[in-house]
Amino acid sequence: MSESGGDIGRVAEGGCRCGAVRLRAAGDPSVVVYCYCVDCRRSSGAPVSLFAGYATEQLDMDRGKLNAYASAPDVVRSFCGGCGTPLTYEDGRLQGEIYIHVGIFDDPEPFEPEAHSWVSQKPGWLTLSDDLPRYQESSVPR
Ligand SMILES: [Zn+2]
Ligand SMILES: [Zn+2]
Repeated sequence: MSESGGDIGRVAEGGCRCGAVRLRAAGDPSVVVYCYCVDCRRSSGAPVSLFAGYATEQLDMDRGKLNAYASAPDVVRSFCGGCGTPLTYEDGRLQGEIYIHVGIFDDPEPFEPEAHSWVSQKPGWLTLSDDLPRYQESSVPR
C-alpha cells in the first residue's frame, strides 16, 4: 500500500456495500480471473468469484480498512467490518500480489475476464458458454 508514481493509465475506484471502505487500484490488473474453488465460494456466498490481480503497491485505501482473516494456512481474505462485503484475497504463494473482488468496483465494465480457475469445484448447473481457458485448479502459476 503505497503512493503510485508516474503516469497512471487508469484508476479503478471501488468499495463495500455500506461505503465504509473505499479503495483505488492504479493501472491495469495483471490478470482477471473467475474462481470456483470451495474457499472462495464459502467466503463470498456466491457460486463464482471474479478477481482482478494487482501488485500490492497498485492498491491504495481511500477510506476505512480491510478486516483480514486467514481462510487457509497461506491465504488471507478481507472484508468490510461494517457490512461484510468480501474485498480482497492474498496468497502466500503469490507474494506481492493482491486479488480484488471485481464486484466491488464502481465500474466493472473494463474488467473483462481472461480465464476460469478451479473449474473442478464448479457446480455442474453453472454452465460456461465462453471460449476462455479453463483450469481444473488455479490458473495462476505458483
Ligand atoms: Zn461496508
Ligand atoms: Zn478461489
